Amino acid sequence: MCVFMDAPFFRRHFPAGALAVIFSLNSFAAGPAPRDYPVQPVPFTAVHLDDAFWAPRLETNRAVTIPHAFGQCQASGRMDNFERAAAVLRGENVENRKPPGFPFDDSDVYKVLEGASYALAVRPDPKMSAYLDSLIARFAAAQEPDGYLYTTRTIDPAHPHPWAGTNRWVNDPDSSHELYNAGHLFEAAAAHYQATGKTNLLNVAIREADLLCQTFGPDTNQLHLWPGHEIVEMGLARLYRVTGSQRYLDLAKYFIDVRGSRPGGDDYHQSRIPPVDQTEAVGHAVRAGYLYSGMADVAALTGDPRYVHAIDAIWENAVGKKLYLTGGIGARAQDEAFGDDYELPNLTACNETCAAVANVFWNERLFLLHGDARYVDVLERTLYNGLLSGVSLDGTKFFYPNPLESEGSHQRSPWFGCACCPGNLTRFLPSLPGYLYARSGDTLYVNLYADSTASVKLESGRTVKITQETRYPWNGTVKMTVQPDWQRNKKFTIKVRIPGWARNEPVPGGLYKFCDALNEPVALTVNGEDVPVRLDKGYVSLDRSWKSGDVIELDLPMLIRRVAASENVPADRGRVALQRGPIVFCVEWPDTPKGQVHKLLLPDEQPVTTRFDPALLNGVQVIEGKGYNVATNEFGKNFKRLQDFKAIPYFAWANRGPGEMIVWIAKSEKSVNAP
Ligand SMILES: [Zn+2]
Repeated sequence: MCVFMDAPFFRRHFPAGALAVIFSLNSFAAGPAPRDYPVQPVPFTAVHLDDAFWAPRLETNRAVTIPHAFGQCQASGRMDNFERAAAVLRGENVENRKPPGFPFDDSDVYKVLEGASYALAVRPDPKMSAYLDSLIARFAAAQEPDGYLYTTRTIDPAHPHPWAGTNRWVNDPDSSHELYNAGHLFEAAAAHYQATGKTNLLNVAIREADLLCQTFGPDTNQLHLWPGHEIVEMGLARLYRVTGSQRYLDLAKYFIDVRGSRPGGDDYHQSRIPPVDQTEAVGHAVRAGYLYSGMADVAALTGDPRYVHAIDAIWENAVGKKLYLTGGIGARAQDEAFGDDYELPNLTACNETCAAVANVFWNERLFLLHGDARYVDVLERTLYNGLLSGVSLDGTKFFYPNPLESEGSHQRSPWFGCACCPGNLTRFLPSLPGYLYARSGDTLYVNLYADSTASVKLESGRTVKITQETRYPWNGTVKMTVQPDWQRNKKFTIKVRIPGWARNEPVPGGLYKFCDALNEPVALTVNGEDVPVRLDKGYVSLDRSWKSGDVIELDLPMLIRRVAASENVPADRGRVALQRGPIVFCVEWPDTPKGQVHKLLLPDEQPVTTRFDPALLNGVQVIEGKGYNVATNEFGKNFKRLQDFKAIPYFAWANRGPGEMIVWIAKSEKSVNAP
């Protein structure tokens, strides 16, 4: 019996036998750990997408975005930093000792390399593989003899970047990002090793991780500092899964436990109080999302329930009071931070793309801990809206903030001085097929829907092939064909997720609600026979003896839904948003007669229709109708004129030039004129 089950918390939450054979999270090589998540993801390499929605985006990421991002790293001097550091270590005369733009520039290269490794895992590319080896050689050459890898200090130890501080590590709780760079190095190294079987980058990572283990810890001769920008916790957990080295897990746990353990911390860094005592989502949203994800990893790998209690409470706060309709988190541009409860401004929303990625990581991990589809509801909302909006349709331009309203000045950019977001997209998108399924024992979870073929190994070692035929997210009909590869005793459970949006719950917790009276039921059949839609944690459990060719058909009614926010959200009062399936819509300037979307008024009684437009924005569903354009005459009096408007998926906005955009449309003249 797995020791994981000994913890009372997990005994309460998981039935005996729910544990799976251990695979590493979001990876594809078996990396047995003594205990891990009770639900395990199905690796992205086992799921092949054939759909018209994601597959082209993933191919654009592979063929366009990854080379583009490497090119930008080269052009911006990020690659040169490694060369300059290596030259200094070789004792060569380096004239240009100017520090790089930001002390975390190294991490951008690691992130793109991580994405390129994932892409290699599903499609061999000898040229790209050789290029990655050349980059890794540069990293290795820039690494100091004891394993320290941080180019800004190595290039000029006497004058590193001002944020770096004069001595190693001591500025990390504030601004140096040494441990942040290390965390991304570990993530990239694990991905590269698992994709290629090569240890060249893994060896670089292990050398630095070993240095961290010597440097940080509870002993009196060690540093007792917490990382200023979290991710090293997740990175160390991953390195532990890959190498089996317990001290990496111990250090991940230490970095969480030391946070907030003495006065002087703050909300920005989630360090005012220890993480296990925290109950609210606070501070810099990316850091927070990475911390909560790291806490989930450490909880799963150690069996310590305190971390789970904390992130459960924080999640209730974040999803109940601080989540945008698009799944974005981080309301305040100032500090890129969570705001107060219900502080969700649309025009000035930060919603950093990295925060959307972190929100997906966090919700995936909560799902793996609890086996509950409500986390997948948040994950799916984020994925299709506030995360995907981060990259242009052509794959070469990026958003840093993802506001829900624009006056026309907010556009995507090919790169940023602070370029965290592009790299995060390049590494996230190739791993997306890994979010479709999960398994626990001989139970298979179907979490996301996309035209695809998957081969899932259950705990018993038996493999089940499952195909999905669907036009999701544009159509809610999903046909799944099941093919177990064994002959006898084919009894196992398939858990089919019924998304919250299909059962009148846009998000768990009631921050948003559908304000129309539409209520078409979900239909589910197996081999043509109706199955009652009885939900357990958001799933219908199909527990039966499966034979090859059995067909599950799911019909999720995709109606145009009008969404209202809680009255507690001042920014959305008197306003309505449109949603269909998992997709949140917006109105953008080319789709109203005068481009004045801020003057658009959409009363509840105005009908709307939907159709698929194959010629628009690479093919998207649109919602059309008539709303009022509200204008003010010279006497200050409003008059309104009926006009056509069209709404497009939010993720696809800002691909047609600058202009106005709005998600929350006014329902009354009063709201139109509200500042
Ligand atoms: Zn970012």
